[in-house]
Order: sequence, then C-alpha cells, then structure tokens
Amino acid sequence: MYLGAIEAGGTKFVCAVGDDDGRVRQREMFPTTTPEETMRSVIRFFQQFELKAIGIGSFGPIDLNKSSRTYGYITSTPKRKWENFNFVGEMSKYFPVPIGFDTDVNAAALGERLWGAAKGTNSCLYMTVGTGIGVGAIVEGRLLHGLLHPEMGHILVRRHPEDGFAGCCPFHSDCLEGMASGPAIEKRWGKKGAELTNHTEVWELEAFYLGQAIAQYILTLSPEKIIVGGGVMKQTQLLPAVRRYVIDFLNGYIQHEAILQHIDEYVVRPGLGDNAGICGALALAKQALGE
Ligand code: ADP
Ligand code: ZN
Repeated sequence: MYLGAIEAGGTKFVCAVGDDDGRVRQREMFPTTTPEETMRSVIRFFQQFELKAIGIGSFGPIDLNKSSRTYGYITSTPKRKWENFNFVGEMSKYFPVPIGFDTDVNAAALGERLWGAAKGTNSCLYMTVGTGIGVGAIVEGRLLHGLLHPEMGHILVRRHPEDGFAGCCPFHSDCLEGMASGPAIEKRWGKKGAELTNHTEVWELEAFYLGQAIAQYILTLSPEKIIVGGGVMKQTQLLPAVRRYVIDFLNGYIQHEAILQHIDEYVVRPGLGDNAGICGALALAKQALGE
C-alpha cells in the first residue's frame, strides 16, 4: 500500500506514489488545463495503485477550514476554470481513503520538517520564490492556518530608494511578490532571471527584498529554520546575499547565534531539493493517515 501525493501547481500537476519514509516510487506530470481534463489524468494515474492515504499540496487560495461548506475547494483563484473546484471532494469520489489537503508551501514545510532541512525542529518556514512568492509555516510543531492560511508572499515591503519599478501584483502592485517574484524580475529588467546571472545589480536588489521579508518573518514567527526554494533561487549567488540582508535588516536586535554566527545553517536551501513539493504532499498523506 502506498501513500499518494499531488503537487498541484498553476502550470503542472505532479502526481506520485511513495512510502512512509518519503521515498517516491513512481511519478508522473500532467499539464494544468481544465479540472475535467487534468483530473482525468490524475485519477487514471492513481488507479494503478493501492493507496492508503492521499496528500494534496495545492495552489490557492484554498479552503482549509474543516467546518466550512467549501472545505477542500480551490476558491478564488485567478485561474478561472479552477475557481470553486471541489478538489478533495473529487478525489474522495474515487479514493475512499484519508486525504490531507493544504497549500503547496505548507506541504513543503511539512516535508522538509519530516525528511529534509528542518528535521528535528519544532518550527520552520518554507519560502518559494518563483512565479509567485509563497511561504508555509510550522509553528510549535503544527502547520499554521489561522483564519484562512498565511499569505506571507504579499506582505508590504520597504522600497529600495533607487528602485523605480511599480511592481506587478494585481492586488497590491509593490508587495513582496510584486517586487521580487520571477515575473517581477522579468518585467523590471526586460529579461528573464535566468538570462541576468551576471548582472550583480539585479541580485543585489532581489536580495534586498527577500532579506527584508525574511527579517520580518523572523520578527513575527521566530522560526528555528528558514528554507528558501523556487526557480529564482537557482541563482546560486542570491542566497548568500539574502542572508547578508537578513542580518542587516535585523541590525543586531535579535541576539541569537543562529543568526549572528550560523546564518548559513539558518537560512538554507531545501534539503529535499526539487522534491520538496511532492515529498511535502507525501508528508500530508502520512499526516492524514495518522489523524
Ligand atoms: P512555479 O513558481 O511556477 O512553480 P518555479 O519555482 O520554477 O515555478 O518558478 C518559475 C520562475 O522562476 C519564473 O519566473 C522563472 O523566470 C524563474 N526562474 C527559473 N529559473 C531561473 C533561473 N535559473 N534564474 C532566475 N530565475 C529563474
Ligand atoms: Zn500582492
């Protein structure tokens, strides 16, 4: 019997089956088109296996409130065809097993804590810097949901004095995501991030925004480990610069050796690498089974 996992993204769905140790046994990818078409492929994939639980890490916003009428739905997404899609309901029609459902980044945080860079901690953040910016959080050993779920990618940031870019978030213009996501980099500089590797000013500015945001997360949630992944972080020079800005923005206020002396082990890359998302969904399945 396997655990089933879905990493549901805006461009693709990754489906996998794996075991209790987070090992992926088989995986397949399907493009995100319409719910009918994508879910047909997803269901066909899982019907090949005997499953004991399923975990879904999904793009959002999603409804995670178990007492809500629309629990398990993707709610107000700008991806119109997926608006009000009953994700958990659709899966449970075909697979009558426990189903764990959470945001993609909360899933990744859970996976990193079970099997990756945050092993042994009681609190951690998983941040992705890609098409969007999202952050999942474990606080006091549990995934943080609250009213809805945190949306830490959309916090307001202090603008760099030399940055004239208006920002590209459709809701807030110059929030963190509007200033520092992959599309923000492309819009500001006229080229994709991958083609800007040698332009140090690009990454200095990027690190200014990401470091600033992480400093705020440290001040508000006090996590024991911060994991940063996503396409933009493929720029290997970026993370060291981000760490430098975290220290700068905190400016000695948080007196802890993790920050002052060992920041290289405090703000880190995903221990699970590019598998953080799908292993996170496996972790959600494992958690659902235990509940
Ligand atoms: P998604 O967020 O859609 O799940 P990714 O995490 O891969 O996917 O993020 C995609 C974004 O990351 C795009 O905006 C892309 O331009 C950017 N990106 C991908 N690779 C690189 C790279 N090597 N350097 C800088 N930016 C990159
Ligand atoms: Zn925003």
